[in-house]
Amino acid sequence: MIAGKNKAVFMHYTLKNDAGEVLDSSEGRDPLGFIQGIGNIIAGLDKQIEGKKAGDTFSATIPPEEAYGHQNDDLIQTASKEEFKELGDIKVGTRFHVQGPQGVAPGVITKIEGDTVTFDINHPLAGETLHFDVEITEVRDCTDEELDHGHIHGPGGHHH
Ligand code: ZN
Repeated sequence: MIAGKNKAVFMHYTLKNDAGEVLDSSEGRDPLGFIQGIGNIIAGLDKQIEGKKAGDTFSATIPPEEAYGHQNDDLIQTASKEEFKELGDIKVGTRFHVQGPQGVAPGVITKIEGDTVTFDINHPLAGETLHFDVEITEVRDCTDEELDHGHIHGPGGHHH
């Protein structure tokens, strides 16, 4: 079966940055399962998987605009220390989660000056060109329930 919109695709992958550092990998885990063409994975990789089948391997270089976007200065903000009291003893590099317009977003504290805390809620991979090595392990039709939920069920997918 050929990968295309609304197919269930499973893959092993290794993700590296421009410096060649491994950022993420499915090694030692089940292959990652996702529904193609609906935004389950970054756009650039979704596009490259179109037309692939089980057993295919390939490398893909994905620019930021087809991955997690560019750094947005509007997402670097300040607040008073009081706002972070639930995090306890904060310092530069402390990570946390905030409720953003598109759901929960990760943030990191980048500066503390007196009572003013500067934090960055850009995606940690914003501005990065991503390098994937991919092995497609399976392509199958989605169940109606998977399409309804917008994700894959079972190993490599969601467990309810
Ligand atoms: Zn589900």
